Amino acid sequence: MADAIIIGAGPAGSSCALWLAKLGFNPILADARPTAGGLLNDSPFRNDWIVTQPGVTGPDLAEGIGLALAAAGVPMFLGARAAQALRSGDAFDVMFELPSGKIQAVSAPNLVIATGVQPRRGGLEPGPRLLFGPGQHVFESNFAGQSVAILGGGDNAFENYEFVKRAGASEAHIYARTVRAGHVFRAMANPDDVHHGPYEVEGAIGQVNGRAYDVILVMYGWEPMPVFADEFELERNQKGYLAVDFMTCRTSVPGIYGIGEVAARGHPCVVTAMADGITAAKDIQRRLENH
Ligand SMILES: Cc1cc2nc3c(=O)[nH]c(=O)nc-3n(C[C@H](O)[C@H](O)[C@H](O)COP(=O)(O)OP(=O)(O)OC[C@H]3O[C@@H](n4cnc5c(N)ncnc54)[C@H](O)[C@@H]3O)c2cc1C
Repeated sequence: MADAIIIGAGPAGSSCALWLAKLGFNPILADARPTAGGLLNDSPFRNDWIVTQPGVTGPDLAEGIGLALAAAGVPMFLGARAAQALRSGDAFDVMFELPSGKIQAVSAPNLVIATGVQPRRGGLEPGPRLLFGPGQHVFESNFAGQSVAILGGGDNAFENYEFVKRAGASEAHIYARTVRAGHVFRAMANPDDVHHGPYEVEGAIGQVNGRAYDVILVMYGWEPMPVFADEFELERNQKGYLAVDFMTCRTSVPGIYGIGEVAARGHPCVVTAMADGITAAKDIQRRLENH
């Protein structure tokens, strides 16, 4: 039996697994993706928000996570989706679907949910003109000479406005019911390009307020992916994020932890996700050593 099963090898889950391994425990870390690093793999931009590592990109950080986990000898299942979980006495059994199609069962007295978030779609169906959320798929798109609408009023909407303009878009307009972006981000946009207030989207034909665009970027923020929250009846907040005690990252069920972006805590980012991983690892140590 392992000491802890950690689902999600983004910054939160990886940090938890690394700390547990270095504290002398036996964690199992698993991720549906083929590599560790979570959303960092989708962020090709410079990440200048980490005070020890200026100028690195998301994939640079993801690679560093993979190296750190390997150096600490953390056992991992990659390309392995956690498909089912049950309680069995004092332990949790999780079934993973491996890339080979086999099912691998793992048991542990601690279960850490570090499954992050996905872009909100706001009821829009996927279509050829629509791109949901920021990241690699936006970075790889050709915006030269294209007219672009950006939906949403947060930091990502304004950052991506600046990106498509630099990438040669013929025009870029932000549509925001309310603007929540910080002043640094708001300053990136020409005020004439920002439409405040209600608007109508016809995603299938690429129209916003009756005006046709070549591309529509949907920057409606994120929604949590709290796997097994229903199975274990974990408390969640109104937006579906796992409710956790911020001193320990414990959820409402003893032995289950919620860390990183899937949990309702302070500002979500790489560093706070890693910090959550440490908080949970230290609490798991206390549980296992009966302190
Ligand atoms: C384009 C972009 C730019 C960003 N820029 C910055 C920045 O400059 N600075 C910054 O601090 N942050 C930035 N972020 C945010 C940062 O990437 C996240 O805050 C961080 O990755 C969250 O870590 P996490 O471990 O909570 O979740 P994630 O990184 O989302 O990892 C969750 C993992 O769980 C896995 N998972 C989900 N469900 C299952 C399942 N059923 N079975 C197995 N695995 C599962 C997923 O595959 C994923 O790998 C950016 C994000 C994006 C997309």
